Amino acid sequence: MSTSTAAAVTAEELFDQACGQARRAAVLASVEALLGWDEQTLLPPRAGGYRAEQAAAVAALVHGIRTDPAHGDRLARLAAGPLARSGPAEVAGTIRLLNRDFQKQSRLPARLVEELARTCVEAQQAWREARAESAWEKLRPWLERVFALKREQAACQLPDRDPYDALMDDYEPGASWPAVAARFDALRGQLVDLVRACVGSPRRPDDTLLRGSFPEAAQQRFVREVAARIGFDFSRGRLDTTAHPFCATMGPHDCRITTRWDERFLPTALFGVLHEAGHGLYEQGLPTAWRGLPPGEAASLGVHESQSRLWENLVGRSAAFWEWCFPLAREAFPGPLAGATTRGVQRAVLAVRPSFIRVEADEVTYNLHVMLRFDLERALVQGSLAVADLPDAWNERFERDFGIRPPTAADGVLQDIHWSAGLVGYFPTYTLGNLFAAQLMYAAEAALPRLDRDMAAGRFAGLLDWLRRNVHAHGRLVESERLVEQACGGPASERWLVSSLQRRYGEAHGL
Ligand code: ZN
Repeated sequence: MSTSTAAAVTAEELFDQACGQARRAAVLASVEALLGWDEQTLLPPRAGGYRAEQAAAVAALVHGIRTDPAHGDRLARLAAGPLARSGPAEVAGTIRLLNRDFQKQSRLPARLVEELARTCVEAQQAWREARAESAWEKLRPWLERVFALKREQAACQLPDRDPYDALMDDYEPGASWPAVAARFDALRGQLVDLVRACVGSPRRPDDTLLRGSFPEAAQQRFVREVAARIGFDFSRGRLDTTAHPFCATMGPHDCRITTRWDERFLPTALFGVLHEAGHGLYEQGLPTAWRGLPPGEAASLGVHESQSRLWENLVGRSAAFWEWCFPLAREAFPGPLAGATTRGVQRAVLAVRPSFIRVEADEVTYNLHVMLRFDLERALVQGSLAVADLPDAWNERFERDFGIRPPTAADGVLQDIHWSAGLVGYFPTYTLGNLFAAQLMYAAEAALPRLDRDMAAGRFAGLLDWLRRNVHAHGRLVESERLVEQACGGPASERWLVSSLQRRYGEAHGL
């Protein structure tokens, strides 16, 4: 055996050991995810305290495995070795990304990790109370603590980066705020104009036909059929009921989506399930051979959101989708939809109505909600805005963008759980997701000339296959902007979202 072969064997053994350790952490992290899913779907009300202890114990184990110095040592040796330079793309990428994860995580002192976890649990409790009573002063001291800790986290984990970018990196690796801000600024003016035109149009779509009596049992059957038809694999996943819908993955063949049911308004569960199933299709499409390692993991939250938004809005609110879906809906809900037409529903799902609450927003105004939060949280992290001045800053900005002013703090600054949960730098990924989704859909339409006819016939496999090959198959080896560029044949840009919204909503509002 030559010296170089011996070195290569050593590097491969080292690689296997590093992957084994990363997978052990991933297995435990999936136990943590299972505890979280259970907490939000089935946990008895008084079991919360012990569940928090269980979750904290598992989280500590995961953190210990991920920041084990022996693991870091192996990764450092791999990074300097032949596999990192000339190994297969998945192997070199795994070494690079595991190293990066290790560096970031091991720079955080255990004291800070614990303090953040504890403070955020308490801040979320304060948030629930503050929101219920619309009492800003109950949350203010907690947010001051959270933002101080998040600034400390930013300085520790990526000391060379701008603090906001350091936090955003947890959700959208490699993103930088000046680039995101430039894109959002270009988007905002055009969205404000489109919202004004839609709201002022004498030919606004009427969505009253989607309001009425839609029994939960019938909705259950209907949305399961829709989710299965777009490709969500129920032999590798479930749909359950929750107050705040989400998608969680507990393993390569265990993806759980959740929804809430509104018996007076059909779109809540239908679009909610299309959204979560879109997340689920991405999870079910990641390469299972690489589970627990970067080639088997999602690229970023922005890319994740692009998948959910694509199915929810670009498929679910398209005319072609309703050609197929309307007869199914009328069969499921013969009462409320008796007098409806395909055309009527196609327009009704595109109604624009400015509202104070982000999670109730339509597709056009939604991004204005996100951009407001992005600008405010950045100012809080960078120090140009004090937490105490947040409610006024929120209301002023809201009035400028939406033309209405939140009457209470609960309708404004207190509506989201994110900041009290320590999720800072997370909001922009929602709009990045919309932007990526629109661009991906244009590329898919160009690659699949029969797409509209297929969707009108209830055939979605071609689109899903295109997403599998161009997005899902790459795991997180390629950063989001590059991934979109590679899939679409041109750099990521906001113009696809603008053009998609102007075309679809302009037509529905007779503009
Ligand atoms: Zn989502």
